Formats: sequence, structure tokens, C-alpha cells
Amino acid sequence: MSTHVDVLGMAREQLAIAADYLDLDSGLHQVLSHPMRQLVVNFPVVMDNGEVVCFEGYRVQHNSSRGPTKGGIRYHIDVDVHETTALAMWMTWKCAVVNIPYGGAKGSVKVDTKQLSLREIEKLTRRYATEISIILGERSDIPAPDIGTNGKVMAWIMDTISMQKGYTVPGCVTGKPVDLGGSLGRVEATGRGVIVATEEAAKSIGMNLGGAKVVVQGFGNVGATAAKIAEEHGAIVVGISDAVGGIYNPKGLPVAELTAKYSGRDGGIREYADAQAVTNAELLELPCDILIPAAISGQITKDNADKIKAKLVVEGANGPCTPEADRIFKDKGLFVVPDILANSGGVIVSYFEWVQDLQNFFWEEDQVNERLTKILRHSYAHVEATMKQYGTDMRTAALIIGVKRVADATVRRGIFP
Ligand code: NAD
Repeated sequence: MSTHVDVLGMAREQLAIAADYLDLDSGLHQVLSHPMRQLVVNFPVVMDNGEVVCFEGYRVQHNSSRGPTKGGIRYHIDVDVHETTALAMWMTWKCAVVNIPYGGAKGSVKVDTKQLSLREIEKLTRRYATEISIILGERSDIPAPDIGTNGKVMAWIMDTISMQKGYTVPGCVTGKPVDLGGSLGRVEATGRGVIVATEEAAKSIGMNLGGAKVVVQGFGNVGATAAKIAEEHGAIVVGISDAVGGIYNPKGLPVAELTAKYSGRDGGIREYADAQAVTNAELLELPCDILIPAAISGQITKDNADKIKAKLVVEGANGPCTPEADRIFKDKGLFVVPDILANSGGVIVSYFEWVQDLQNFFWEEDQVNERLTKILRHSYAHVEATMKQYGTDMRTAALIIGVKRVADATVRRGIFP
């Protein structure tokens, strides 16, 4: 679900760049270029009108050398197995960069949930969860929310797996509602982490987050939270968008009010009167200091990278910038905090949720946020030091760390049998 971008090609190109720096053995490179498992499922759902509709879904596990695989489930009409594989691969590097004991996975169903009733979404979820349950489990592969899914969907998956087991298994998914074993702070974790990364990057390039003009693409879980927390830090959010389009006001937008009124309803923000309507393409090119793409992949390519006016791009979304865009940014000195670092707050707090579920011992929200911030700042500093050591951009540095950790674990474990 990117605009005509080969996302798996992108992920493999990024891996090849890191592999070159690491002088990675070619056999190992081949192992890491491929997912360890790809499950494609076609399953029926009886719709409210009695009609039977068949849906296609996927669960891809990329690598489990460092622990159980972990990754979100996406409901969107444009998903396919290749994109899901790329997203699983990025999850592997992401967990390794921030040093949490997981490998990467991703799941998706090709569906436009806007066309379904809540009951139909629940039935689709329970059937999809059953189909992929043969490779899921709290010790093997743990889903979480992504585009088009949320805590409610995670609760249905948890309940479905628990029904099969005959007892409640809260640790089999993360991003659940708090009263079902979810973690305090998980809903906001990705957006919060994006702003921690933004603060660190602003320091790196001598920019003040207070007073900085920020544009955010995507007004869902990640985008709306990042915009809200950026505003709390004194930034001025001048542009936001959702799948329908965006709005712009150089004097600033009232993010809290817009979130309360429109978040989660595509097209809603366009009802806000005190702003100029812009397309998603125009939004990315607005004058601002910081651009946070927090929607889908393949948004910034060779065609528009040169027109981006921000000095800092912080990737809330997975894969919003192509490798060609990266090269253009490097030439023009634009600083990019890559997805596998910038949006890792979600999986970090998912890890905390899983640990809490396994121990049946729950933490205060302050504790969650403090530990999240500590891991992110530490990881940022490590990536920045690696960037200086190798003379690369930040994405390559993050990949060097992530790929090396996974490659080392694979070698140390040895190739079975
Ligand atoms: P979401 O479904 O809550 O929100 C997605 C937002 O993007 C919505 O506002 C939607 O209208 C908008 N959107 C969809 N298509 C668009 C398009 N073509 N152009 C512009 N906007 C579009 O999803 P989310 O959980 O906020 O995820 C957003 C991104 O962040 C994804 O790339 C996801 O993989 C990534 N991410 C999410 C998490 C998480 O914890 N939810 C963690 C890490 C990364």
C-alpha cells in the first residue's frame, strides 16, 4: 500500500547497503533477504446480508534469531504479501536496533473496513486469527495494531486464541485494552517515541523543538499522537492530513481540538474552517522545519524529495522515504530519523506489555514512559555514534546496528541441523 513503490525492493536495497558496510557473508545476506515463513490464507466470512465473501490475508515471519517474532496487523485494501514481507523485515531490524529480544513479523488482510459493519470486522478478525493461529503464540509470534486495526481488534484476537487454548492468554497479542492486560501508555507509545526521537534529532542539528513548525502526514494513532505531543513541547503544528487530504495554517492548528473531533474519521479534518485545504502531495512540500510522515510507505520518492522544505524528517510511518529520496536528502543535507528508530516506541511498549502479561504484574504509566524514553534516547545516541563512525546517514547507521545484531545472533546459534 504505497503509491507504486516496490517496498520489498526498497527493504532489500537498504539491507544490501548495510551488508556492504558490514562485509556480510553472502550466504548470511541471502538468509536475511528472505522471510523464514510466509503464510497466505484465503478465508470466508458470512456478511450481515447472508452473502459469503472470501478474503485474502498474510502473516509473514522474517527472522526469529533474537526471540519470538513481533509485528502489527494491517487491514487495508492495497496490502500484498511482498509489502507485508518488507514490513516484517523492518520489524526485525527495529527490534534489534533498540535491543529488545524479538524478531520481526507482520500480518495483513486485504480489506476496506469502511465497507464492513463492526460485526463483520469482528467475524473477519476471528476467522483470520484462527487461520494464522498455527504460527502465532505468546512464545512464538505476537501481533499488535497497525493501520486499520486497534485495541478492539487485538481483544478479539486474544479472545480467539484463548478460546482455542481453553484459558486466557493475554501475552499472545499486544496493544490490547488496559483492562484485558494491555499496558498503560501503549496507545500513545509510537507517537510519544516519535517525539522523543524528534527532540534528540533537533538537538543534533541545533534546532529548537519549541517554536518549530511541524507538518504531520496521517492523523491516526501515530500521527495524531505525535502532533499532540509535539504541540505539548511548544512546537507549532501547521499542517496535518488523513487519507482524504490535508489542512494548512501557517499560524498553527489546534491539534487537541482536531484530535477530539476528527481523529479516526477520514476526511473529518477538512471540516475545520480556519485552514487552507491541501492535497497529501502538497502537504509534504509545505514550508516547515520538521516533517513527520505518519501514514503509509513510498510517500517521498525521487519525484518529490527535492521539493521537501523541512530540515528534519522523522519517519513515524514505516518506509515513507525510498532509497532514491534518501540519496537526494543526503545531497541537500536534510536530516532523516529512520522508521526503524523513530517509530520503535510502539514495539518497545509492546515489549513492556508482553513482559507485564507474562508476569501478571503491571506497571504505572510513568514507569512505562520513563523506560520508553530511556531506551529511545540510548538507542538514538548509539545510532548517532555509529553514523559518525561510518560516515553514513542515520538510516544506514541504524541498519548497520540492527543487521549486525541479527547476523551475529544467527551465526552464534549456528545453522540447523
Ligand atoms: P492508523 O490506521 O491509526 O492511521 C493511519 C492514518 O493514515 C489515518 O489518518 C489515515 O487516514 C491516513 N492515511 C491512510 N492512507 C493515506 C494516504 N494515502 N495518504 C495520507 N494519509 C493516509 O494507523 P497508525 O497505527 O497510525 O499507523 C500509521 C503508520 O505508522 C503506518 O505506516 C504504521 O505501519 C506505522 N507504525 C504504527 C505503529 C503503531 O503502534 N500503531 C507502530 C510503528 C509504526
